Amino acid sequence: MTITIHRGTHQIGGCVTEYEQDGWRLFVDYGEELAGGPKSGVLKVAGLTHGDLSKSALFITHYHGDHIGCITQLPAELPIYMGEVGCQIQRVVSNYMKSKSPVHQAMLERLEHVRTFKETERLSFGPFQILPLTMDHSAFDAYAFKISAGGMSVFHTGDFRLHGFRSGKYEKMLQTLVGKVDYVVCEGTNVSRPDASSKTERALQQDFETLFRENKGCVVYLSSTNIDRLFSLYHAALRAGRRFYVDEYQKDVMDTVVHSGSIWTRSPLYQYDGFEPKVLSYHKYKENRFFVADSFKEALAKYGYVLIARPGERFDDLLAQIPVDKKVLSMWRGYLKEGSEAYNEALARALEEDFEYLHTSGHCDMQELPKVFAILRPSAIIPIHTDHPAAFERLFGSEWPVVCLHDGETFEPKS
Ligand SMILES: [Zn+2]
Ligand SMILES: [Zn+2]
Repeated sequence: MTITIHRGTHQIGGCVTEYEQDGWRLFVDYGEELAGGPKSGVLKVAGLTHGDLSKSALFITHYHGDHIGCITQLPAELPIYMGEVGCQIQRVVSNYMKSKSPVHQAMLERLEHVRTFKETERLSFGPFQILPLTMDHSAFDAYAFKISAGGMSVFHTGDFRLHGFRSGKYEKMLQTLVGKVDYVVCEGTNVSRPDASSKTERALQQDFETLFRENKGCVVYLSSTNIDRLFSLYHAALRAGRRFYVDEYQKDVMDTVVHSGSIWTRSPLYQYDGFEPKVLSYHKYKENRFFVADSFKEALAKYGYVLIARPGERFDDLLAQIPVDKKVLSMWRGYLKEGSEAYNEALARALEEDFEYLHTSGHCDMQELPKVFAILRPSAIIPIHTDHPAAFERLFGSEWPVVCLHDGETFEPKS
């Protein structure tokens, strides 16, 4: 089996990896390049974007735009595989977004033909055996793949972390279901922060609960598909005795997880605790505005609230009509960096000057990463999804051989 990283050896967004065996090609991910990051532009890859596709398939690790965002550009006959629940969540997102962006209408149509798999459901494709394993990440139903073919095995990590609610299971899972592999194709997003250890999602939840107890009206801005954070906030709000409000779309996203049947949803984290999140009502006569009823205002005054908001006029208008004690940003701070490509003006406007920042990374920190290598004991590690592969090599190279590739370069293991 050979490994070619078409994109992602020197950048975080838009990774595309190809595994090839006997003329069969298994691709992993086909997403967008990150705003503000380097750009390689449109890819041309035989067996993926054009040419003979009869021995090709694409596997998607998770629904973040930098992994799935460009699948609408691929030929319709290319088979695409994705986790079942992740696919359902993407459908809810695209359905909501389709009126704002035509790409999402195309995405909905493409998702109709996506083949889905479940956690630990072994799949085969040509000479490839694929074992999908869910990893803890800021996307729900995010997968790593153990890929075996021609007597060689690779663990393709996808995006993951070891400080989330679900991370406790990774050690046993890797030991029992994966074990030693020949190579690890490993994400290295946080390589530029080698000494930073990430706050755990549980500790962050505690911080939120304290903030909710101390402040009667809290508004939190976070990614609508950061499922673990959403449910964490929901339970923290209830524990603090506050009511939890979301809009219809956000409730749809949460319901999709609750009713998904994923084995993870056996955890109380993904269950509604008696009181379901309350859904904000729309105004009957004013288009795209929430309705602020007297009874709603009275409930806010009586119980206090935690409200999940998104940047934009609808929420700005609502917040102007209710008492707000704290605004919280619970996602990457880079969106507020004025002048950068990632700058989100609506978010900056919504947050104003005075807000709390409570967030933890969706990616593994470098101090914990060696724990994964110690279980998988690879002959070499190939960094991907990183803007600094040389730093990755400096960090781990003394203990584990690190192979730094360039985009499009093919790695042929010595037999
Ligand atoms: Zn991701
Ligand atoms: Zn990513």
